[in-house]
Amino acid sequence: MSQNNQHSSSLLKHLRNLAASPLYGKERLDMIVRLIADSVQADVCSIYILRRDNLLELYATEGLSREAIHRTTLKVGEGIIGWSAADKQSIAIADAPKHERFAYKPETNEDAFHSMLCIPLLKNLKTVGVLALQNTMRRIYTEAEIEMMETVGMVVTEMLNGAAQLADLNASTEPQIFTGISLYEGLVIGNIYLHEPYVRITNFIADDIEVEHKRLHQAAEVLRFEVDNLISSAVSGLKSDTKEILETYRIFSRDKGWFTRISAAIEQGLTAEAAVDRVRSDIVNTMQSMKDSYLRERYHDFNDLANRILRLLSGKPLHKSEDLPENAIVIAKSMGPAELLEYNISSIKGLIIEEASQTSHVSILARSLAIPSVGRCRGIYRVAQNYYPILLDANIGKVRIFPDKATIENFSKAIQNNNLQLCHQNLQEPCISKDNVDIELFVNAGLSYDINLIKQKQPMGIGLFRSELQLLLSAGQVSFLEQTDFYRQTYDALDNKPIYFRTYDIGGDKIPSYLSSIIKEDNPALGFRGIRIGLERPVILRIQMRSFLLAANGRPLNVIFPMITSLDEFLMAKEICLKEVNRFKKLGLRVSQEIRFGIMVEVPIVAMHIDDYLDDCDFLSVGGNDLLQFCYAADRDNPKTASRYDRLSSASLKLLRYILVKANQKSVPIRFCGEMAGNIIEIAALIGIGYRSFSISVAQIEVIHQAIKRINVADIGNLIEKDLDKKNVNIRENIRYYISGVK
Ligand code: PEP
Ligand code: MG
Repeated sequence: MSQNNQHSSSLLKHLRNLAASPLYGKERLDMIVRLIADSVQADVCSIYILRRDNLLELYATEGLSREAIHRTTLKVGEGIIGWSAADKQSIAIADAPKHERFAYKPETNEDAFHSMLCIPLLKNLKTVGVLALQNTMRRIYTEAEIEMMETVGMVVTEMLNGAAQLADLNASTEPQIFTGISLYEGLVIGNIYLHEPYVRITNFIADDIEVEHKRLHQAAEVLRFEVDNLISSAVSGLKSDTKEILETYRIFSRDKGWFTRISAAIEQGLTAEAAVDRVRSDIVNTMQSMKDSYLRERYHDFNDLANRILRLLSGKPLHKSEDLPENAIVIAKSMGPAELLEYNISSIKGLIIEEASQTSHVSILARSLAIPSVGRCRGIYRVAQNYYPILLDANIGKVRIFPDKATIENFSKAIQNNNLQLCHQNLQEPCISKDNVDIELFVNAGLSYDINLIKQKQPMGIGLFRSELQLLLSAGQVSFLEQTDFYRQTYDALDNKPIYFRTYDIGGDKIPSYLSSIIKEDNPALGFRGIRIGLERPVILRIQMRSFLLAANGRPLNVIFPMITSLDEFLMAKEICLKEVNRFKKLGLRVSQEIRFGIMVEVPIVAMHIDDYLDDCDFLSVGGNDLLQFCYAADRDNPKTASRYDRLSSASLKLLRYILVKANQKSVPIRFCGEMAGNIIEIAALIGIGYRSFSISVAQIEVIHQAIKRINVADIGNLIEKDLDKKNVNIRENIRYYISGVK
């Protein structure tokens, strides 16, 4: 193999010509292996592709027996090839058959070959195959040769992907069904769009190396400027450890070693984007394997910087609306609420997120946006292919990809029926159970979409206004005037019906984009979030209170503080807000006569000592999503942990009932606001233990309203009461059985 750069750029040029040729699929693979074997004087060049069943299959070879193509397979981790795939590392061995990890495959006729070089083919940091070179000579591959082959490997991955679609090589487009859980109902026929958090690189091979160096240089300048700006606008008022983290980030953006490595990759014939991506993979691999958790976690910074510079180089935002197919149904492995908002929401007709549960913030957001959504749909991301048809039945959490014509036609009929059903709901009637128990149904809101729906549906009020959603939706900061205006519109749309405004509950997984590179915590759900930010930076709380007061303009105002952990926090937050009220009075501005302050009950210690709060709080809002995740020490967003406990266990219900009983004893109004209230079985259980007021997503209110009218509250109360102190009873199943029997 030659060490000469000229050789490598001539191989890359040949590959580029091949990429432009009309050869596809198998023929293209055959050409690739032949070309590489000739150019680098290898006796064998083979390509193994990772199949969906996690086996590496020999797809093309120059030098091994052709009989072995599609016959030879290796598990990830098996043999040197499987090892390279598993560790995502290039592996060079002078005498492979003597190596303890060598796996002999007789059908390949590889007995004569000794040295071996395996290059993992990586896409978005995931292994998609392995490129393997073998020689009869026992030889040692130099660093330069390995690096050169890594570059070739990257180009080959891109060629496989661009020309024949990697998935097409191993995947059929036979109809397949996946089942998950419904996050927001609806039936949609659409086309697949795979959510990729990375910038897609389309051009790998440089036409002119000098031009690429210049592009890198310019992008690096802008990057540093952006990072400096970001830090200087955010740093005041932050704690010193947070500042330190930001400083590290700034240092990374000037890291000479990083840029030298990128320049070296350009020298090898890559475009600036491809070079950034290549160095990112190397760094991420090294950092992820580090023992020191601080350093290991720093890879997020490098990843973020690499993404930023890639966006600068490509001149594109993360998603372009023109990339989305018509009736796009976005499929993601995981997604945060801010990432969802980066899309042009009106183009998204459906959403499937493998790792989302009912209470994930992204699910809550999807519900607010009325996007039919399914969560916990395992394995779909790997199999689905961009732009292929998909049928989403988010009523029951079922997804069909690559459907046949007849299935599409049947589905289309089902959509018509579903729409008819929804039109028949009527919210104007009071929500009264079969045995005459009045149930209050308020809605959760926070986006202008909600306000439009509220205008149409006329619910009795907003029980939880998630004010932070406005920040998440915005690309930059939201000005005082914009914020006030939005609250005013909400008041106007509600027509004197009550609104419960929650002060910003940012932090956790709800980080506005302008803060995303600043708030980075190891354990965000338990971190700097909710009222903790408001108390640490009271100016935020004061300004928000000012907006509430101005928007209310004398109308009643209800304020909820999120993530309250002690009575002191509540009293301090209330005092900050009351100072604003006094200021308004002094200035002669109109002040609401009725101002009430309450808390989200979402931290276990507060729930257990709720008595302490009842003399000071005007009302309580039970945040079941957070309360139960903290009680069970199980991340609400993580499907692996969220499904480990039952929200209807007797332990959960007893705690929820305890809060309610205590509040009722002191006549403090209490409302349940978590996502449980949007599920008919769960809301029935809550009604059964005594809750009478709820706040649920606008999108779910009609279905719940209808369902409550059919239940008998006393029956459910008795059903639960007899089970609460028993062990090993399935309250959920009992209620499900009851509900399925009511007409
Ligand atoms: C909750 O925690 O239950 C709640 C209503 O608040 P959020 O889901 O916005 O955290
Ligand atoms: Mg909460």
